[in-house]
Amino acid sequence: MRRTRLSALTTALAVTAGALIAPTLAPTAAAAAAKTPKVLVIGIDGLLFDKIAPADAPTLDSLIASGSSSKTALYAPPFAPTLSGPGWATLATGTWPDKHRVLSNSWGTSTNLATYPDFLTRAEQARPALSTFAAATWDPLVDDSAGKAIFSSAVDARANGANDTDTTNQTVARLRDVGPDASFVVLDDVDAAGHNCGAATTCYLDAVAATDKRVKQFVDTVRARSNYPNEDWTFLVSADHGHTDAGGHGGNSTPERSSFIIRSGPGTTPGTPAIAPKNVDVAPTVLSLLGVAIPAALDGRVLGTATGDPFDGLVGSLQARVDETGIPAAVRGWTKTTPSGWTIDNSAMGTGGVTEWRGWSFATDEFWTRTEAGQSRESNVRARGVFAVADSDEWSDKATSGTYTSALTSPAVSVAGKRTLKVGFSSHYRKEGNETATVTVSFDGGAARTALTYTGDAIAKIESLSIAVPAGAQSAKVTWRLANGANNWYWAVDAPVFTTA
Ligand SMILES: [Zn+2]
Repeated sequence: MRRTRLSALTTALAVTAGALIAPTLAPTAAAAAAKTPKVLVIGIDGLLFDKIAPADAPTLDSLIASGSSSKTALYAPPFAPTLSGPGWATLATGTWPDKHRVLSNSWGTSTNLATYPDFLTRAEQARPALSTFAAATWDPLVDDSAGKAIFSSAVDARANGANDTDTTNQTVARLRDVGPDASFVVLDDVDAAGHNCGAATTCYLDAVAATDKRVKQFVDTVRARSNYPNEDWTFLVSADHGHTDAGGHGGNSTPERSSFIIRSGPGTTPGTPAIAPKNVDVAPTVLSLLGVAIPAALDGRVLGTATGDPFDGLVGSLQARVDETGIPAAVRGWTKTTPSGWTIDNSAMGTGGVTEWRGWSFATDEFWTRTEAGQSRESNVRARGVFAVADSDEWSDKATSGTYTSALTSPAVSVAGKRTLKVGFSSHYRKEGNETATVTVSFDGGAARTALTYTGDAIAKIESLSIAVPAGAQSAKVTWRLANGANNWYWAVDAPVFTTA
């Protein structure tokens, strides 16, 4: 869709603001007859989305067919290992590991779970009358004896099954007898099969099939409830991490970082969204369905809402690799096309180098992180969809002359009659040598004024710059400039938002 610059910005602001406000139930006559929203989140430890279709898994297949589904990407070390502790805490809290601080599988009490609690606890804090339930085979999710459990004692009932059969039976009983407003159940057998046999085996597919039968028990139990005609059930399914073909996880490979979200229920836009969601989106989605306000501290957004990010409009322009060698040719994930009104200035850029990264580019996580694993590109968790990248490290992997000097500039933003221009964006920068990374602002085409200079790393940061508007200024352009770089890491920028006051 092509929009004028100002309406695009207005839309971006409206969407951003809207994401923070929970939907209120419309006070109409129809509301009196509204069904009660109910949510069941099913976590399947170590399940790879790509293994659902080849497995005998008709219930998961039907949830996918009736709802929305997408693969999602997680972080990797050193940000956090692709293990169950960080994975479930991310899903439960709607925040990334640098906030919740569950950084291993034995976290004890040294976490921020009190500040960033699980979504069931948030639901209880906002609306104590809600009925909540958490069940898991893995003890630390629901049992405080080894440290604070990810699902806190504020949850109405917590069940710690001895195995997946026990966890399933306790969950079925609760769904049947209570029908909690919000529940979370985690099953472990698929992960065990991954460790025992590897993900590239029929043994793993058999475990997926067996777990699918448990998912069927949950769905059938819900649909058999006597009060089901008065209830609106949403099913969400996700995983804490993936598995390698040989079995195992914790590291930075694409399959280990691979998770997914399936959503089936009222208000779901069917199919695969153009911009992949993130696992932090599950918690705000549950809160939104329950009519609970979404705290600004959460990193996620409600599934199905537009990102409002001008860079995401480039998803249709993404190309396959040119000079990069380690990225599969089927992965279309980079472009030099700019969003309408945005410009890239490469007039001071050196020559040669890797085509994809000569000056600012736009790329996806799937493409960019495959350039080389283990260099913290996987830590760029607060970007999503298509983001801007200045990667002097990858550019230098082919013969170059001169330096990496490139500038990305926004469209003109109206500042007429305003005192302050605020520039918000997600930023992921690694400092190495003499390169400079700056954000500057030019009013009415005048001299650039520096708003930000990085002297060290900025890992998965949300920047919010406040810039004084000179008297009489009519418009402003904002420039992100990486200059004098050689083989000096990178800068990724996403979701720029401009506001004035
Ligand atoms: Zn495991």
